[in-house]
Amino acid sequence: MQRILEPGQIETFAQRDIPRLRLPDRARVFSARAERLRRQSEAGAIGHAIRDYLHLMAHLADAQQAALESIESRPLELPGDEDIAHAQAFHMPLVSVASWQRQAQWQQALASICSSLTALPNLPAQVLLVTDHVCALTAQQLEAQADNLLAVQPLQVDTATAPFIMAALQVYWVALASRTNIDAIHELDVPGVCPTCGTLPVASIVRADSRHQGLRYLHCALCATEWHMVRVKCSHCQTTQGISYQSIEDGPRSIRAECCDTCRTYRKILYQEDDVAVEPVADDLASLSLDLLLSEAGYRRASPNPLLWQQP
Ligand SMILES: [Zn+2]
Ligand SMILES: [Zn+2]
Repeated sequence: MQRILEPGQIETFAQRDIPRLRLPDRARVFSARAERLRRQSEAGAIGHAIRDYLHLMAHLADAQQAALESIESRPLELPGDEDIAHAQAFHMPLVSVASWQRQAQWQQALASICSSLTALPNLPAQVLLVTDHVCALTAQQLEAQADNLLAVQPLQVDTATAPFIMAALQVYWVALASRTNIDAIHELDVPGVCPTCGTLPVASIVRADSRHQGLRYLHCALCATEWHMVRVKCSHCQTTQGISYQSIEDGPRSIRAECCDTCRTYRKILYQEDDVAVEPVADDLASLSLDLLLSEAGYRRASPNPLLWQQP
């Protein structure tokens, strides 16, 4: 394992107008993720089990894109002026997972995702069992599972159905986030949670396009909003001391783990300058060997990947 310190670590952008937020592009948020998952599943140095899982998740992301497109045609309740004023006054996320009344559309998205998957030829029998199980849950049971997932209560989460239920919640929240006026989303007092929905980030990404060149954004695990945070700072406890970067020897340069010696957590950080196609959910999932190394080194993940749940 290499221990790498970044050159030019402190950003001083006093003169530069930093775009604070990037909202998801609903035309391609999940299809780009599917493409990346598929490419990662075909990469050489991964085991069979994870390859099959990435492949399945690529199909899942395709099904999410299709579900998102069909949700668009149904009336979607968006935050009104009162919601916006309330969120601003109390420094709350605009469509907070803790307080926003989610509509039944997310369950329709779930049904659509499950039917897309079951229509696939060669879907493994054990996956079919899980999707059948999801379809058999009552609306009330689904809402209870959704509450546990959104509150990140791993002990109460059914790990087999979680990726599918989470996938449907992502579709619903991306539909909200991508239709929200960016000016209605305000900065929170807690910089480590998504200002749109209040969920923790899955990873961060240093962008390379001209507008965001060299800037680091945290990527929401639920609604795919990205919000700016300076580099070399712990996204969990916000310290700037004792931050180090670890990566897999001979692994891709486009991914490292940003480790914090204060809270002993890490999140992965992706670099578009090394690979323009990096995608936070997909690349985090495809780099489980890095999680293994970090765990052996005594660090814990700051938050789970939305598509992979393990019992603690
Ligand atoms: Zn979010
Ligand atoms: Zn920390």
